Amino acid sequence: MKLRYSESFYSVQGEGNFVGTPSVFLRSFGCNFRCQGFGLPHGTVKQKVSTEVQALLDGGVLDTVNKFEDLPITQTGCDTYASIYPQFKKYMMDKTVDEVVDDVLSLTPEGKWMMDNGQDIHFILTGGEPLLWQRFWVELFNHKRMRDLKNVTIETNASQPLRNPLFNYLSTQGNFQLTWACSPKLSVSAEPWENAIKPHVVARYLEVYGSKMYLKFVVADEVDVEDVKRAVDEYRRFGINVPVYIMPVGGSNLEYAKYKLDVAELALSNGWRYSPRLQVDLFGNGWGT
Ligand code: SF4
Repeated sequence: MKLRYSESFYSVQGEGNFVGTPSVFLRSFGCNFRCQGFGLPHGTVKQKVSTEVQALLDGGVLDTVNKFEDLPITQTGCDTYASIYPQFKKYMMDKTVDEVVDDVLSLTPEGKWMMDNGQDIHFILTGGEPLLWQRFWVELFNHKRMRDLKNVTIETNASQPLRNPLFNYLSTQGNFQLTWACSPKLSVSAEPWENAIKPHVVARYLEVYGSKMYLKFVVADEVDVEDVKRAVDEYRRFGINVPVYIMPVGGSNLEYAKYKLDVAELALSNGWRYSPRLQVDLFGNGWGT
């Protein structure tokens, strides 16, 4: 089996409860959502492909840009657009388990997950939507060179059911601490609520023995805050009592700077945790960060 993915890189975890931790990121290709509403006023999304992405395609980006990391950053819609639209699949890697293991381990400082100084390197499955590749993850985790892995975070949009092979592997053989970083999409994303907020799906993730979880919501204004309250209530009704983070919208420094203080205030006044986007602070949110 092969994995199609857009990038792998070594950086600090920028969001959620492991901010600052040295981590290898693997960004799988494909997503069941489009999140075209990010960065736009509520209720204004009509078309099927993001206006910005369509403009790039119309402008011939596929002919003029040769490498994934040279693709332009967009300000609206999904901030990893090139990992979700099939039009960009020419930039993707398509690799076997052995090749992916070689790739991710080559990024770590010592070619292994556990460093001689006692610090382990975290492994982050992100996307796109990584739970579209569940069979591949079982094979990857089973690989002999992955045995010293100590921490895995799955960054998911929390809409994809956890299938039995991965559930069983994680529950019985996964020899690492698993963290579910669930980032459900609110109405600002323009995804239908009933497709995005699925407490029964998320409750199943938490059934993985020993796994931890937090919820992370991207917000910009009071409408989003009301959405967070509604979503958290729905999750609580299914027994999902995990930490809640809110994080400023912001695919660029300017947008992030505009929202971050207000969002920090909203976190404080509502008793939620604030998540920065450390990668935007440090690197301006280019690819590979
Ligand atoms: S769920 Fe994430 S990867 Fe998928 S479209 Fe939305 S922002 Fe992009």
